[in-house]
Amino acid sequence: MRKKLVSLVRYAKPYESVRKAVFNCNGFSRLSPGDRVFIKPNIVFWNKNCSFPKWGVITTSRVIEDIVILLKEYGVEDITIGEGIVADPDDTETPDHAFKTLGYQTLNKRYGVKYINILKRPFKKVELGDGISLKFNEDILESDFLVDVPVLKSHNQTVVSLGIKNLKGAIDISSRKKCHSADPLQDLHFHVARLADPMPPGLTIIDGIYSLERGPGIDGQMRRTNLLVASGDILSADMVGTKILGHDPAEVGHLVRAAARAGRPVDLSDLGVVGEKIEDVASYHQYNFTYTSGESGEMPRALARQGLQGLFYRKFDHTMCTYCSRLNGVILTALRQAWQGEPWDNIEVLTGKAMEPSPGMGATVLIGQCMYRKNKDHPNIQKLFAAKRCPPDPHDIVTAFNKSGIALDSTLFEQIDKLPEFFMTRYQDDPDFDETFFRIT
Ligand code: SF4
Repeated sequence: MRKKLVSLVRYAKPYESVRKAVFNCNGFSRLSPGDRVFIKPNIVFWNKNCSFPKWGVITTSRVIEDIVILLKEYGVEDITIGEGIVADPDDTETPDHAFKTLGYQTLNKRYGVKYINILKRPFKKVELGDGISLKFNEDILESDFLVDVPVLKSHNQTVVSLGIKNLKGAIDISSRKKCHSADPLQDLHFHVARLADPMPPGLTIIDGIYSLERGPGIDGQMRRTNLLVASGDILSADMVGTKILGHDPAEVGHLVRAAARAGRPVDLSDLGVVGEKIEDVASYHQYNFTYTSGESGEMPRALARQGLQGLFYRKFDHTMCTYCSRLNGVILTALRQAWQGEPWDNIEVLTGKAMEPSPGMGATVLIGQCMYRKNKDHPNIQKLFAAKRCPPDPHDIVTAFNKSGIALDSTLFEQIDKLPEFFMTRYQDDPDFDETFFRIT
C-alpha cells in the first residue's frame, strides 16, 4: 500500500520553508490553476480593544502570505481566505479589525485575494451520518481546493487542535454549540471527527512557527517551535502534529474516530514522513488544567494553592462551548481576588450541559442557560443562583455569586475587553515572540 506523505520541515525562512513543506509532500498534486481555492486560517480569538499575544493561538500571516505566493506562482487566480472568528455574529467590527491587522487587506491589494467573514455568509446543512447534521459555510463547500492552516496547539477539551478541529470555524454558531453535545455517545470528539468529511480535496499546513500548551486560547503557554507540517491528507497531518505535541493519536478521541471511519490505523504505520524525524522535534505540550479536590473544595490547582476553601468549582467538561469557556477564566480570576481567607459556605459552581448538583452544598451557582434549564428544579439544590442566558451575561454572573455569598468584584467583568493585554506581559521581553509574524509588510 502506498504511504500517505507528510512533510515535516524546520521553519527557517519566509517563502522557502513553506515551499519546501508543500512540495516535499506533493501538496499541490490535486490542484489545478483554474481551481477556486479556499484558505482556512485559525483565528480562534480576536480583540480589537487592546494588544494580546497571538503566538501559537492564531495562524501567522507570514505562512498565509507564503501560501498565497505559492498558489499564485502555480497559476491560481481565485483565492479566498475565510474565517468565522469567535464573536457575536452581529459584530462585524471585530472580524474587520482582525483581517485588517493581520494584513489580509494588503493580500487583497497585492495578490487579489478575497477575504470573508464566514459568519456573514450563507450556510448549508450537511448530513454527516448517524442522524447528525451541521451547517457549513457554502464558500468552503463550493471551493475546489482547501488549504487548511491550523496552528500547532494542544487543546484543553480535544487534546489537540489541528487540521480537522480547525474546520469547526467553518460551521455556524448553533452547530458549534451542537458539537459540545451532552450525549456521551455523540460527544465533542464524535462531531469533530466528521468535520472534514464534506470538504473538497486539499492540503493541510500546520503552522508550528509557534506552538501552544494548554490551548486553544491566549491563557495557554506559548512556545517558539519553528516547525511546519504539511500533507494532502488532513488526518495524516494531524497524527504527525499530535506526535510532535507529545501525544499519541490513539488517545485523541476525534482522531481515533476519524481513522476508524477511514479504515486506517492510528499508529502512523501508513504514513511516510519526509524531512525531519518526529522524535527529533517532538516536545510534550500539556493540554489539561489540573484540578484538586477534597473535603474543603474542588478547584484549579492555582486556587487551591492560594488556600481557597468552601468552593466546589467543578472541572469543565467537553460540553462547555467556547462562549461559556471565555468567561470561565475570568470567573476563576475574580474568585481568587474575592478570597478573604474565610471559607465560603460550600458553594458549588456548575458549567456546561451535563453536570449535576451534589447533595450537601450550601448553595449552587449555575453558569449559562444549559445548566439552568437542566438543574433549576434539582432536588439536591438548597439555594440556587444562576446566570441564565446563553452565553451568560457577565452582570448576571457577578449577581449570582454575590447572592451566593461570594463577593465578586464586577470591575474585572466590566474590563473584560482589556484583560487580554495582561497576558502580553509574559512575552514582552522575549525576542522569540515577534509580532511581525502577524503582519504583512
Ligand atoms: S449556555 Fe454555555 S454551554 Fe450552553 S450553549 Fe450557551 S455557551 Fe454553550
